[in-house]
Amino acid sequence: MPTTRDYYEVLSVERTADADEIKRAYRRLALKYHPDRNPDDPEAETKFKEAAEAYEVLSDDAKRKVYDQHGHEGLRSRGGPAGHDFSRMDPNDIFSMFQEIFGGMGGGGFAGGGRGRPRAARGYDLETEVTLDLADVARGVERDVEFTRLDVCEKCTGTGAKPGTKPETCPTCAGQGKVAQQGLGGMFRMVTACPHCRGRGTIIKEACDACRGKGRVPKKRKLTVKVPAGVHEGQAVRIQGEGEPPPPEAAPDGQGVRGDLHVVVRVNDHTLFHRDGDNLVVELPVSFTQAALGAEVDVPTIDGRQQLRIHAGAQHGDVYKLDGQGLPNLRSGRHGDLITIVKIEIPKKLTARQQELLREFAETEDQSVLPESQGFWKKMKDLFGA
Ligand SMILES: [Zn+2]
Ligand SMILES: [Zn+2]
Repeated sequence: MPTTRDYYEVLSVERTADADEIKRAYRRLALKYHPDRNPDDPEAETKFKEAAEAYEVLSDDAKRKVYDQHGHEGLRSRGGPAGHDFSRMDPNDIFSMFQEIFGGMGGGGFAGGGRGRPRAARGYDLETEVTLDLADVARGVERDVEFTRLDVCEKCTGTGAKPGTKPETCPTCAGQGKVAQQGLGGMFRMVTACPHCRGRGTIIKEACDACRGKGRVPKKRKLTVKVPAGVHEGQAVRIQGEGEPPPPEAAPDGQGVRGDLHVVVRVNDHTLFHRDGDNLVVELPVSFTQAALGAEVDVPTIDGRQQLRIHAGAQHGDVYKLDGQGLPNLRSGRHGDLITIVKIEIPKKLTARQQELLREFAETEDQSVLPESQGFWKKMKDLFGA
């Protein structure tokens, strides 16, 4: 049965997420919940399938539109194909369906691969995260990342066979990994993965006890990643060849290339600034007297403070731009600006003396010097008369 959960919730993305965010979210979940990484875990398999279903809908503009307007029911009642029933599909088929988003895995892939043209087997890409502060984004930073990947078992050198023994050629498929079946009275030939050796072409009589015959074991790996200045939330630094080696069934000879590691960058919210592309935006509280009389005030920049001259008569929402005080552009290195927005504050409490002074001020106040008020009262008068 297709899932009844909200697709955006399944992928943990906002309803406004763009195609790229949806792709990344799906990629992360699919790699995390793939049954090969979670053997005998039906919950992981359900999550894996749910994610595929959500991705199929949300990655298709037309389906997404129907879903946004009419939900699951809308997709079902639209007549047209509601999509695949992923709950009934083999996870490997799902994986190969969306293969392009897992980073050119070639002929490798999880067990049951072998579809498509034979290419050099390539292991899976992996993904990890680093979290930066805006100050790190401003300067660029080096970070240590630690992650776990499946790696070649040292004890059996990846063969999966007990040391001293060797994998033997599978008698069912004579080492081909594939068997052919005649379909519909010889109308066509169907080639499927050999059920005996599960496509490996070899069988292991005595399994290596370190990897239980899998040829690979999870290993921790630590690396230093150089994150360039100007990087944005959600972008990834790709480190070639730091992913997983191809699975043994894809590269029984131990050949093939490793996948890549994608280090996804998260950027912490800053307490004062928010980011708008390469610009930094800050709201600057200014007292009404400072605004009325003009003042020198301190503004924060990414490197510290700087003086800013607020002109007399500054209005709420006025913008002061500090050129080049934003973040560097990832490609050009050119700095954005610091956008300072004046936020005028009215005191909530006044001392008796302040009240006295303000009353006195109010008596001298001439409506005509307040431009907004002037226009407003004139419009009132035009509407209702004097
Ligand atoms: Zn082993
Ligand atoms: Zn076989």
